[in-house]
Amino acid sequence: MQLEKLKRKQNKVLGPSALSGALTENSCNRQVWLLNRFKPETKDSVFLEKWKLQHTSALNNLTNFLGQKYPDAKVDSEVQLPTVEFHGVSLFGVIDCLLLFPDGSVAIFDAKTGARKSKDWIQIGLYYLMQKAINRSYGLPIPRLFSLGIFYDDGKFPPSKKTFEENLLELQGENAIDEVFLDGTRKKLREVLQVTAQDDLPDPQPSIGNCKYCKFNISCPSALKNDVAIVANDLI
Ligand code: SF4
Repeated sequence: MQLEKLKRKQNKVLGPSALSGALTENSCNRQVWLLNRFKPETKDSVFLEKWKLQHTSALNNLTNFLGQKYPDAKVDSEVQLPTVEFHGVSLFGVIDCLLLFPDGSVAIFDAKTGARKSKDWIQIGLYYLMQKAINRSYGLPIPRLFSLGIFYDDGKFPPSKKTFEENLLELQGENAIDEVFLDGTRKKLREVLQVTAQDDLPDPQPSIGNCKYCKFNISCPSALKNDVAIVANDLI
């Protein structure tokens, strides 16, 4: 693979969303290794701009709702976290919605405009681990976890009570983080981080599922580009 043709990032850094995708949707270690070092090959599009507008609307609806549901909490949105390093990989992220309760506990929420995916829970679980690491490094108490939550909405219509009942999922209590990072997921997370941190380009793991939405499938010589049906009339 000709890495010199890719646009290098200023610093090696990964978003929790990209890392959670590597645990659940794309098992090719090469793609997460590349994402850590290079800018995706895909360009901004009208689709992306529309997504941003829908996300902004859904997030506003979510923060308004949470402000009413938890009147004692301080509700903050688009909270940018400092970079945190795990096993040699720097993570950088923005929490959609962070609630801080008077007793110091926190709740982390994300607004999603698309389908429900397990990667979404891993993403907000990573935000909580980052928040823990940040507090520890600043000498602050480790924040107790109140809840992790995801609101699935496209932001197009005013939400009703039913919208929140059906589409706001919340895992409450300190154990929520253990429900997200079950043993197998924690092991896989450490493994992916270690491979991502190594200097050598990992071997490709091409498959239709991996390569279809990989952000480097233009330059990767191992990419499976087409999902073409195989004709096998002679077998029947
Ligand atoms: S195109 Fe396929 S094989 Fe190449 S890095 Fe992406 S997922 Fe891996």
